[in-house]
Amino acid sequence: TDLALIRNFSIIAHIDHGKSTLADRLIQRTGGLSDREMSAQVLDNMDIEKERGITIKAQTVRLNYTAKDGLTYELNLMDTPGHVDFAYEVSRSLAACEGALLVVDAAQGVEAQTLANVYQSIEHDHEIVPVINKIDLPAAEPEKVRAEIEDIIGIDASDAVLASAKSGIGIDEVLEAIVTKIPPPKGMRDKPLTAMLVDSWYDPYLGVVILVRVIDGVIKKGLQVKFMQGGTEHLIDRVGAFTPKRVDLPELGPGEIGFITAQIKEVEQAKVGDTVTTVKGGATQALPGYKEVQPVVFCGLFPVDANDFEKLRESIGKLRLNDASFSFEMESSAALGFGFRCGFLGLLHLEIIQERLSREYDLDLITTAPSVVYRLTMTDGSVKELHNPADMPDPVKIAEMEEPWIKATIYTPDEYLGSILKLCQDRRGIQIDLTYIGGRAQVTYELPLNEVVFDFYDRLKSISRGYASFDYEQIGLREGDLVMMNILVNNEPVDALSMIVHRSQAEARGRGLVERLKELIPRHMFKVPIQAAIGAKVIARETISAMRKDVTAKCYGGDISRKKKLLDKQKEGKKRMREYGNVSIPQEAFIAALRMG
Ligand code: GDP
Ligand code: MG
Repeated sequence: TDLALIRNFSIIAHIDHGKSTLADRLIQRTGGLSDREMSAQVLDNMDIEKERGITIKAQTVRLNYTAKDGLTYELNLMDTPGHVDFAYEVSRSLAACEGALLVVDAAQGVEAQTLANVYQSIEHDHEIVPVINKIDLPAAEPEKVRAEIEDIIGIDASDAVLASAKSGIGIDEVLEAIVTKIPPPKGMRDKPLTAMLVDSWYDPYLGVVILVRVIDGVIKKGLQVKFMQGGTEHLIDRVGAFTPKRVDLPELGPGEIGFITAQIKEVEQAKVGDTVTTVKGGATQALPGYKEVQPVVFCGLFPVDANDFEKLRESIGKLRLNDASFSFEMESSAALGFGFRCGFLGLLHLEIIQERLSREYDLDLITTAPSVVYRLTMTDGSVKELHNPADMPDPVKIAEMEEPWIKATIYTPDEYLGSILKLCQDRRGIQIDLTYIGGRAQVTYELPLNEVVFDFYDRLKSISRGYASFDYEQIGLREGDLVMMNILVNNEPVDALSMIVHRSQAEARGRGLVERLKELIPRHMFKVPIQAAIGAKVIARETISAMRKDVTAKCYGGDISRKKKLLDKQKEGKKRMREYGNVSIPQEAFIAALRMG
């Protein structure tokens, strides 16, 4: 295709502002699908994506649009993940485009995620086309939002398109704006091939499918290519695009976005951000911006029923086929038996994997407390990464312990500001900046990631009745006064409940945990002490009193059949219990104890 007729763009928006609805309208208007094929929200095709209204994998559609100037343009729409956990993938998708539609809800205005995305878009030199959506709503204030876009984001919004993706208003204007405002890509057909690997996923029929953006040169079937970062070579066996139906094409030229397959079995071999070039006469320099993604949040996943271990292994393996960014290795816990220690890009990523395991693979799972990765410098000078509190060495051998920090941007109506500042302060936050823009506050904090992985986001949402938005980036490691807190049930440490906490938070957290456990662990024939301890020092304690004599007499008296029934019932119950220091702890207790404040 003639470069002048190509437009590559993404859509950026705060969640729920109408990104997917607008994308669907654009597809419908340009005839990519028949009405019958136009099932609601074509782009989010995983159940979880639909339910949560988020995009997890980057996706593109190619639309052919005949503009008012009479020419037919090739529009490549790239839908990017909308969550901080997938920031690197987003950055690569944005790098594949020359422009972006900035969708802002006419009733909600600019929100944190809008800002975070738009700044990234500006960093990629995008031409930004503002679209004020949902003008059909009675609460819509398009003029106020127009002014907000100009004041807060600092881009010209005088000719922002006023649209309602839901009722189909302004769709043609959006398409015209894409063609007239977003610049065509640059590139040279006769230069050596350089293409950026934007995303990859596993397809059961095609193997690994790779989304690419060609910068220079041409990619076609039969070409022997190499991945410059991964160092592997492959024979291209298919080239095409999604309209959103998959169509095969003879080639992808400079400036084009499409897919390739090359008989690749594992997504791990097709790393996002890698450079694809030809083996013969290829490019010598890889594209900038490549990064190896590393999991930042770790937790243990254990089957509730120990017999499900093999099934869990298989299921995790299958999910991993499609997602090279999560890691897993076998782990055994005295409390929970055999399971896996898994690493994720963030808490949402963790939840997605967990949900898919229970939904698609029908597994009942226990998740241990999520933990970040700590760096330990030992007294002998060696350095260790700690992914699991259970592997914590003897504290006397540790010279220094460091934890990851983040920079968080919170955007909120100012009535909730006081409680939000308190929340950040309670989580060891350091305030960096606070600005007001017309009834809203934007506050920047540095926070330890450890304090955020538990329930920070939920708390923030509940404090602000859902109005506050949150976005973060990692800013490196800092030394911290961190300690390992053990939970002892009947004087035995329960490994699945141990966690690393800041010394200043240990008591509050320990107290909360033992109080909850007291409620959750049933009474026994004897007194059961529950303690939180740092080393030998107990920092919180509760005791579950013993069952009263007459209760037990009742239990074990009576006729034989009743007794048998009782025993059967106990056996049934046992399956869902873990024996610990002679104490039976119900599975629910682990889960409930970890879902905490
Ligand atoms: P996304 O999270 O940005 O992808 O947002 P969606 O496209 O999923 O839309 C979020 C919600 O807003 C859905 O319930 C849509 O039906 C609704 N919505 C999207 N566009 C409009 C619009 O123009 N007007 C109204 N009233 N609702 C809209
Ligand atoms: Mg969406």
